[in-house]
Formats: sequence, structure tokens, C-alpha cells
Amino acid sequence: MATERTLSIIKPDATRRNLTGKINAVFEESGLRIVAQKRVQLTEAVAGAFYAVHKDRPFFGDLVSFMVSGPVVLQVLEGENAVLKHRDVMGATDPKKAAPGTVRAEFAESIEANSVHGSDSLENATNEIAFFFAQTEILP
Ligand code: GDP
Ligand code: MG
Repeated sequence: MATERTLSIIKPDATRRNLTGKINAVFEESGLRIVAQKRVQLTEAVAGAFYAVHKDRPFFGDLVSFMVSGPVVLQVLEGENAVLKHRDVMGATDPKKAAPGTVRAEFAESIEANSVHGSDSLENATNEIAFFFAQTEILP
């Protein structure tokens, strides 16, 4: 077991419905620790750069529009096997396929407005954390 960090984003559908605290409670109850957190309004340029890996997917334009439709909460989560643990408590991308009790099963509105983002590998987590946070903003 290794202590890891992962990047989490509480997406605009969830901030709009005032779900930040409920989602954070799921993370904390799973053993993840919120070691950095900031609420920001993404621009299209930043959201497009963050999701550049999906730029050729048919939903890319809609995804960027959704991600700038309201504030997001950017977070660094830390814990044992944090990357996989966070993906587990988030649930599947499509809330219809997400296991009961996961954030997406409980809160997501659709496959797009699915309440949370989480890094999908340790390498991507490192890069995604550096995309949004300075080392001085992370306080374990
Ligand atoms: P994730 O790692 O589970 O977030 O899923 P992906 O990396 O595959 O996709 C990134 C994000 O794009 C998802 O979280 C959704 O917000 C959105 N997305 C993924 N698949 C679709 C889709 O088929 N249609 C739409 N509209 N959005 C999607
Ligand atoms: Mg992904």
C-alpha cells in the first residue's frame, strides 16, 4: 500500500445543487484526506487544455461548455491507494452503470453532468495536480 495523491474536481452540476459538502463527506468517510481545495470558474481555454486528451471525441465541445457553466471545486485528495480508491467511490462514468452508494450513482444527472472528475492513473494524477496547484497550496 502506498500513500498517493489524486486530483478531484466537483463539477458545475454538483456545485449548482449545493452538494460540495455531501460529496466531500463521501471522500472523507472513504479515508481520503482533502489536502488542497479551491473553488474556481474555469475558462474555455483552461477546461479545453485540461481535457485535451478527449479533444477528438464527439462530446468534447459539450464537455468544455458544461465545465465552464458554473464554478468547480478543485481538490487534491491524499490517502492509501488514493487514485483507485477515489475512482471506486466516484463510480462509473455513466451514472446508470455506477454502483449504488457511489457519488455518481447518488448525485450525477447524466453521463456528462456526472458531478465529479478523478484522475485515472498515478502518472495522470501527478500531471493533473500540477496543472491546477502549486506545491505551496497543498497542505497535508
Ligand atoms: P471519467 O474518467 O469517468 O470522468 O470519464 P472519461 O475520462 O471517459 O470522460 C471525461 C468526462 O467526459 C466524463 O466524466 C463526462 O463528464 C464526459 N463524458 C464521457 N463520456 C461521455 C459521453 O459519451 N457523452 C457526453 N456528453 N459526455 C461524456
Ligand atoms: Mg477520465
